[in-house]
Amino acid sequence: MRIVQKFGGTSLADAEKIRAAAKKSIALAKEGWQVVTVVSAMGSSTDDMLERAKKVCREPSLREMDAYLAAAEQMSATWMAMAIEDLGHPAISLTGYQAGILTDSIHGNARIQGLNNDRVQRELDKGKVVVVAGFQGISPEGNITTLGRGGSDTTAVALAAFLGARLCRIYTDVDGVYDKDPRKYPDAVKLPVLGYDRMLIMAREGAQVLHDRSVEMGKLYDVPIQVLSAFRPGPGSFVTDRQLLQVDCPQF
Ligand code: ADP
Ligand code: ASP
Ligand code: MG
Repeated sequence: MRIVQKFGGTSLADAEKIRAAAKKSIALAKEGWQVVTVVSAMGSSTDDMLERAKKVCREPSLREMDAYLAAAEQMSATWMAMAIEDLGHPAISLTGYQAGILTDSIHGNARIQGLNNDRVQRELDKGKVVVVAGFQGISPEGNITTLGRGGSDTTAVALAAFLGARLCRIYTDVDGVYDKDPRKYPDAVKLPVLGYDRMLIMAREGAQVLHDRSVEMGKLYDVPIQVLSAFRPGPGSFVTDRQLLQVDCPQF
C-alpha cells in the first residue's frame, strides 16, 4: 500500500516541526506503507525570497525566478530526508526533476503533464521514504518550472494519482476544510466530507487550503484527499466523490 503525505510551510517552520513531520512518515513506513512525503518551502521563505529578488533585479526572467524559487522546496526536502535518516529510517530527497515531474513550459504557473521516469517507485521499492520537493517540475525544454503559489498540494495529488496511492494526506495549519476561512470567521463550520466540485469552487474563489489544480487532479484520477492538522490529532476533512470511503491508513 502506498500513501502520499504533504507538509505545508507552517508545518515545517522550524527544526522541531520538521522532526515531528518526519516521525509521521516513519510511523507509516514501519506499518508497511510505501511513503512519499512532499514538502513545501519552510515557513514564509517563498515570500522572503520574492522580496530579496526585487533588490537584485527589477524584472527577473520567469525562467530564472522558477529556478530560484524551486530551491526553497529542495532545501526542505533535504532537511526532511536528513531528519528521517537521523531518526533511524532510510530516506532520500528528490527534486521535482529527479522525481520525473513533467510539466508544460508556462513558467510561474506550469501544469503537470505526467511522470517521465520511475525513480520514485524504485526508491520506494528499496524501502526508503521518498521525499519530493513540491511546487516544481521540468519542462519539455529541460527548464525548471513552478506550479503557481500553493502548488505543492498539486505535486502531492499528482504523485498520488500517478503512483496509484490509496490516499493523499495534506497536513496544514488548520484541522480541515471549513465552509469559509476559519481564521477569518469564528463561526465557520468544518466539513468532514465534501465532493471535489464543492472544494473546487472554494479553491477557485481563493480558499488557500487546497491549490485548485490539486482538486482538479484529485477529481480526474479519483484520489481521496485528506486535509488535516499537522499539530492536532483528528481526521480533518476528506475530499472525495466516493459514497463509501474506506480509510485503512493509520494516523500518527
Ligand atoms: P499550507 O502552508 O499548509 O499549504 P495554506 O496557508 O496554503 O497552508 O492553507 C491553509 C490556510 O487556508 C489556513 O490557514 C486558512 O486560513 C486558509 N483557508 C481559507 N479558506 C479555508 C477553508 N474554507 N477551510 C480551511 N482553511 C481555509
Ligand atoms: N512555496 C510555494 C508557495 O509559497 C508553494 C507551496 O507552498 O505550496 O506558494
Ligand atoms: Mg498551501
